[in-house]
Amino acid sequence: MTAIFLLLKRSKATVAAPLQRFALLLGVLSAASVSNAPRDAAAVERTCGPDALGVSRIIEVDRSKGTAVGLQSYPRTLDLRDHEVVLTFDDGPASPTPQVLDALAKECARVTFFLIGRNAEGLPALVKRAAADGHTIAHHSYSHPDKTLRLMSEDAAKADIDKGIAAVNKALGATAAPFFRFPGFADTPALVADLTARGYTIFGSDLWASDWSHMTPKAELDLVLSRLEKNRKGIVLFHDSQGITAQMLPEFLRELKKRGYSLVHMVPGDAPTPIVAAGSDWTSTTEPIIAKTLGPKARQAPHEHEHGAQEPPKSGEP
Ligand SMILES: [Zn+2]
Repeated sequence: MTAIFLLLKRSKATVAAPLQRFALLLGVLSAASVSNAPRDAAAVERTCGPDALGVSRIIEVDRSKGTAVGLQSYPRTLDLRDHEVVLTFDDGPASPTPQVLDALAKECARVTFFLIGRNAEGLPALVKRAAADGHTIAHHSYSHPDKTLRLMSEDAAKADIDKGIAAVNKALGATAAPFFRFPGFADTPALVADLTARGYTIFGSDLWASDWSHMTPKAELDLVLSRLEKNRKGIVLFHDSQGITAQMLPEFLRELKKRGYSLVHMVPGDAPTPIVAAGSDWTSTTEPIIAKTLGPKARQAPHEHEHGAQEPPKSGEP
C-alpha cells in the first residue's frame, strides 16, 4: 500500500460551487471561453438520455464551517443514503484526465477533482475544462511531497498547501471549492485545525479503487465494484492520473447505473454539511498504512487508532 500512496502525484479539480449549481440547475454554464471544451453544460445535459447515470442530488458542504469526513481516515462521513456514491479523483490534472472528463461527460456525471497545484500550473486548460464540465475543483497541496505534509515542518506544510490553493485558483480563474485532501491522507491535527478554521472541509474517503496498484482496468473495475457492493454507498477515491482508471471509468459508470446506484455531487454551500458519525467500533484504515509507510515518526496523535486495517496492506495502498 505504501509506495504508491506516496508516489502518486497529480491531482484534479472541481467546479466552482456557484458555477456548478448554476450549470446543474439551470443548464446555462457556457464553456465557450474554455479551450478544448466542447461542452456547454446545457448541451451535455441534453445529450444524456434516461440511460445516463447523471446526478441524482447535490450535497452542499458548508463553506463557513470546515470539518473532516471519510471513514477511512475520520470517524464521520457525508450522510449518504443507501446506494448513493460521491466520486472523487486525485492527483490531476494529468495526461489521462481528458479521457476521464470524456467518460464523465458522456454520462452527465459530476464529480470532485482534488488537484495538485503544480499540475494545475502546467495544465490550466484542463482545470478550466473540468470546471466548465460542471465538476467541483478542490485542492490536494502544491507539490504532493513524497514524505507527506505530516513529516514537513508545520510552516513548510502550510506554505505548500497555500501555494497549491493559489495555483489551482489561478489556473481555474476563480476560487475553487474549500475542499482539501491530504496527500497520502497524512494529516496533522494542527493542519486540520488550521484548514477547518478557514472553512475548508477535509476529505478522506470511504472506499478506494487501489488504482495506484499494478492491475488491469478490468481488475480495478471488479475490485472497486466489490468494495462498493460491500459498503453500499460512500465517497469513492480514484486517481485521474492513472490510465487504468481512465480506461475502466466508462464501464464503471454504466455499472453504477445498472446496479441502481445514484451519483451525488458535492458543492460548497451555506447549509450545514450533512454528516453521520461512525459507529463505536470505528478504526482508521489509513493510519496503519501511513505508519507502515513512513515509520514511527509519522505516528498520528489522538484521533486515529493503530489497529484495524480493513484489508491487508498490499503493494502500494493509497
Ligand atoms: Zn494524491
